[in-house]
Amino acid sequence: MHQSVLITGASSGIGEATAIHLAHKGFRVFATARREEKLKNLSGLGGGRITPIEMDVTDESSIEKALKKIADEGVTLYGLVNNAGVSAMGPLERLSQTEWRGVFETNVFGLVAVTQALLPQMREAGRGRIVNIGSLTGRIASPFQSAYAATKHAVEGLSDSLRRELKPHGIKVSVVRPGAINTPFGHFEQEMLTHYETDDVYGEQVKIFKAWFEKQHPSAPPPIVVAEAVHEALTAERPQSRYTAPKSMTYAI
Ligand code: NDP
Repeated sequence: MHQSVLITGASSGIGEATAIHLAHKGFRVFATARREEKLKNLSGLGGGRITPIEMDVTDESSIEKALKKIADEGVTLYGLVNNAGVSAMGPLERLSQTEWRGVFETNVFGLVAVTQALLPQMREAGRGRIVNIGSLTGRIASPFQSAYAATKHAVEGLSDSLRRELKPHGIKVSVVRPGAINTPFGHFEQEMLTHYETDDVYGEQVKIFKAWFEKQHPSAPPPIVVAEAVHEALTAERPQSRYTAPKSMTYAI
């Protein structure tokens, strides 16, 4: 029987590429995100082993509903890829509390909520793999990324603790740290910065950073490099605690 894996944020970029890659490698994939219409494109791919399911990681009832659909199919999940993520770019001084809370809501509390919901079945099975998508920004950050960087540092810390906590239960935890990857994410980040180009204090700095960012982005590697690292984290006998996606680069200046 194929191993089953749930991926969050599979409607785009890294999550989508990972869903397709894992299905091609023989995994039964439950591809989740909020935009159901985008997820539907995955149905015919990966040898028909991808099941799209709508799920918002910030909404506990949505998580419950999605997991119930999977349980109703008699499936016990072996793997969880916590990939859903958003950014909030801008000077710390300017980002609102709502923006700060929003990025934590998805990247940290959402990740925790999905993990909490899945852990009982993994513990009962006495086996499982959790792969959290961190970022090189969780190690070294560019200016105007304070909120996003803080969430990715949180992912590093909670993953470290969880790895030790779950080892006796047969569950392995890894972090995959992509550098810049060519997905819509970078475009959203550039758009967010546009708003601050006319800022009377930070405007000039933002313009310089944004111009550099825009020049670099097209040469960032495609999301398959991250999908391959996720596959390794899910299948290696002794997965590493940290994977830095090969060939990816950091924007930190
Ligand atoms: P995309 O913007 O292409 O994809 C983000 C995904 O997250 C989408 O599928 C989106 O789906 C999903 N998502 C956002 N909010 C929620 C939510 N509340 N519930 C469920 N799903 C949600 O970005 P990437 O593929 O580039 O990013 C994926 C991960 O990789 C993120 O964690 C990001 O931080 C990380 N990363 C990306 C890098 C890059 O350069 N691209 C570099 C380092 C790390 P929907 O809107 O349909 O819900």
